[in-house]
Amino acid sequence: MNISEEPLGDDEFTPRLDIRSLYDAFDAPVTDFDCGAKCAPYNPHGVPFCCDICEAVPVAYLQEWEYLQPRTDLWHIYRGDECPDDPDDPAEVWKETPEHMTLLACQGAAHCQRRFRAMSCRQFPFFPYLNSAGEFIGLTYEWTFESTCWVISNLWSVTARFRAEFVAVYDAILGMWPLEYASYDLASENMRILFTEKRQRIPLLHRNGQDYLLSPRSERLRRADLRGWRSFGRYRA
Ligand code: SF4
Ligand code: SF4
Repeated sequence: MNISEEPLGDDEFTPRLDIRSLYDAFDAPVTDFDCGAKCAPYNPHGVPFCCDICEAVPVAYLQEWEYLQPRTDLWHIYRGDECPDDPDDPAEVWKETPEHMTLLACQGAAHCQRRFRAMSCRQFPFFPYLNSAGEFIGLTYEWTFESTCWVISNLWSVTARFRAEFVAVYDAILGMWPLEYASYDLASENMRILFTEKRQRIPLLHRNGQDYLLSPRSERLRRADLRGWRSFGRYRA
């Protein structure tokens, strides 16, 4: 996969990404059916939670925005008033946005253009999990969406193709972009701290294709059948 046009650098280094190659290499849906049909009925707005601006504001690399802006009318820069029920103070939200990223809003699920989905759409609800030795060992989920995302309650449904593409793309990104590596290293550490407090194990879709439960304290991995693993809120079996 060739997604970069420049070599490795130091912590301030931002690699030049080939966004189209990145998107083409990471195009598999999370499940082999429309998981949006599983969650949308529970959303008062009637759309999948991950495509509802009132639930999640999409972020994108600045370089994605450079790529997307002249090619599609799908996206605009987030203004803060897109969710009428719960408007944001844009200044506050932008303050928390890393400098190499931008906040966007799309035209909504009914007008999605799959070819121009952002990386954050493609990876949802997962992020690359790094152990305390800094090794990218697999995928785990964004825990703030436990109660809304059906997939998190049904991790068995994630396809092998999605997992393989995720691992290949993040091997490339983390290998060339120290800032992104540091950001996911921190997210993984935060998850270990939180799950230690909650006394819960972390489900891991391992890069070897197997599923595990990870002890957040000892980081010991135990093979698991995630079909019987925890489900949340309205998705409780
Ligand atoms: S990834 Fe989760 S939130 Fe998004 S459509 Fe599928 S089940 Fe719904
Ligand atoms: S671009 Fe498509 S996948 Fe991404 S948030 Fe919008 S509707 Fe959802």
